[in-house]
Amino acid sequence: MIARQVRASGGMWFSLNGLQFHVDPGPGALVRALSSRHNLDPTKLSALLLSHRHLDHSADINVMIEAMTMGGTERRGRLYAPADALEGDDPVVFRYLRNFLEEIVVLREKGIYNLGPINFTCPVRHRHRGEVYGFKFESPGLVISYIADTAYFPELADYYQADIIIFNVVRYKPSDLDHLHFPEVEQLIKVMKPKLAIMTHFGMTMIKAKPWLLARELCQKTGCEVVAASDGMAISLEQYKDETGEKTGQTAS
Ligand SMILES: [Zn+2]
Repeated sequence: MIARQVRASGGMWFSLNGLQFHVDPGPGALVRALSSRHNLDPTKLSALLLSHRHLDHSADINVMIEAMTMGGTERRGRLYAPADALEGDDPVVFRYLRNFLEEIVVLREKGIYNLGPINFTCPVRHRHRGEVYGFKFESPGLVISYIADTAYFPELADYYQADIIIFNVVRYKPSDLDHLHFPEVEQLIKVMKPKLAIMTHFGMTMIKAKPWLLARELCQKTGCEVVAASDGMAISLEQYKDETGEKTGQTAS
């Protein structure tokens, strides 16, 4: 998928309660952001979040640090990443860029982090090569979970319970890869019953199965709203927030 750019691989851009941050800047993140019709300005980002160090999630982390900090002319922004993305045999964040950042925060299992108007947690370490975490974002009136790369385990449903859940769905049929496949995501949606489920991070078998049709099928089976992400898709979050909550924002894939 990445080598041929069948689908864009730049990750997700969040705008939540006036705060902008980017999650998993894979190959093309900066170029896709700058060419996006959604007016995405990297110098407005407050943080970059890495779920793990694999190339499809981290390839553009360095260039995004450069962009967020205006080439290091202004020390600003935070980076959140697992320890093995920063240290060890094969770190993915250049050392010379690290001083450009206001702060580097090492993610831990069950860690709780504050990003101004929102809090987020890394509820559980994933079953995937290396150190991998998903995120659960809590803003007034709205909880959003991102289940990053992982093999299935039933406790995912409890850890990531939320109004909106983003699933990385790599395979259409069961496989022994350490990734979620489509039937497992169906199972999770049935149990978790989010207001909105978003499927993304498709492998070729998912693309061939036409994810937009699969989303419609899941919607009928589960009674939940399900969408398949596409390049440049923006989702307004307003309609999913609790009535008592405050103004939230949108996310772009
Ligand atoms: Zn991975």
